[in-house]
Amino acid sequence: MVRAWIGLGANLGDAASTVSAAIEALDGLAGTELTRASLLYASPAWGNQDQPPFVNAVACVQTELPPLALLDALLALEAGFGRVRDPAVHWGPRLLDLDLLLYGDQVIDLPRLQVPHPYLHQRAFVLVPLAEVAPDLVIPGHGRVRDAVMQVTASGIVPIRR
Ligand code: ATP
Ligand code: CA
Ligand code: CA
Repeated sequence: MVRAWIGLGANLGDAASTVSAAIEALDGLAGTELTRASLLYASPAWGNQDQPPFVNAVACVQTELPPLALLDALLALEAGFGRVRDPAVHWGPRLLDLDLLLYGDQVIDLPRLQVPHPYLHQRAFVLVPLAEVAPDLVIPGHGRVRDAVMQVTASGIVPIRR
């Protein structure tokens, strides 16, 4: 069993309900058990800013799935929640985004999968929820979450109820 961290995001439809349901659904993946989840956070849109704000969270799982199988399970879960990828729009609005942030302490650099997620250490909307539940977690190549979160601007990222 490996401990993996998943980043969740949504900004279309009832984003908070979608993220809550997706966290629960992680527990239903083959060989996978949900062990921890952050609060849900509202975050200003990132990258392409001309879109609704996001609901973000992070979750921790214990999994028997190898990394690419876990990625495929996450992509299938996104599709199951109705996500359709528009290859023409980068960082556009989405019903649900599931990123594999960390897989144990492994560093993976495949065409379809980079772990740690390449932007993890510089995205406040990931680091703030991660710092809530796992401040001592080490991001391979980038040090502890508690230090990384100090380097980013976390303004506008606020916990929401759900
Ligand atoms: P970003 O990765 O910058 O957050 P995004 O989440 O909008 O952007 P997507 O369109 O969801 O990008 O994913 C595009 C592809 O990224 C996926 O099909 C997947 O193969 C690849 N990918 C590479 N590394 C990862 C990772 N760690 N987690 C999820 N997808 C990844
Ligand atoms: Ca993403
Ligand atoms: Ca993604």
